[in-house]
Amino acid sequence: MHEASVALDLIRVAQDVLREHGGVRVTALTVRLGQWSAVVPEALSAAFPACAQGTPLAGAALSIVRVPGVGECPTHGLVELQLMRGLRCPLCDAPTPKLLQGDELELDELELA
Ligand SMILES: [Zn+2]
Repeated sequence: MHEASVALDLIRVAQDVLREHGGVRVTALTVRLGQWSAVVPEALSAAFPACAQGTPLAGAALSIVRVPGVGECPTHGLVELQLMRGLRCPLCDAPTPKLLQGDELELDELELA
């Protein structure tokens, strides 16, 4: 059910954009979803059509772009983190305490009609 509330949030944001631009409906939207966010893309794709029913987003095509997790290793600089290893450099295992990228959940593009 988590993904349904995420879908509803996205729809709300998209509707605001639609209103600002004077569009009638949204035909397609692209969402950037970090691999480290708690949202499962398949579940979001599955929840979206039902949530969009009765809104200007009904029938819109949802594309999800996965954003990999990136941290900074003191030795190797920016490295792509692997979920299984946690916040550690995949090359030397040093801790990379900050997630620089990979927890996003944001509306990237909208196609309005
Ligand atoms: Zn390293």
